Amino acid sequence: MRIPKSEEEEKKKLTREQYYVLREKGAEPAFTGKLLKNKENGMYVCAGCGNVLFSSHTKFESGTGWPSFYDVANSDAVDLKQDHSHGMVRTEVICRKCGGHLGHVFDDGARASGKRYCINSCALDFKKK
Ligand SMILES: [Zn+2]
Repeated sequence: MRIPKSEEEEKKKLTREQYYVLREKGAEPAFTGKLLKNKENGMYVCAGCGNVLFSSHTKFESGTGWPSFYDVANSDAVDLKQDHSHGMVRTEVICRKCGGHLGHVFDDGARASGKRYCINSCALDFKKK
């Protein structure tokens, strides 16, 4: 369910970069995210609404420059949607609670799931365990 909020409210709460990624489906530059190298135990939540999205247990080093996970914390945390932008066919990962754009999921993950959730660091907040 979407939480209705005015755009003005959203802009106050989110940084410009977070607004650009979450609400305008932007992408942060590779290798710049604050959570890219984070190896602490905890949960990654949506920066827009606090929805629990990923566990540190499923985070892995993909070499792409964005935080990568091979699974979601629970299957109803996100929605997946086909994305045809930029001349590519990709699967967009969206926060189910607030509708925020998080990143994309690819089928080239190294782990058993075969998935690689490629997520913008600034779309996430980290809650240390
Ligand atoms: Zn959210």
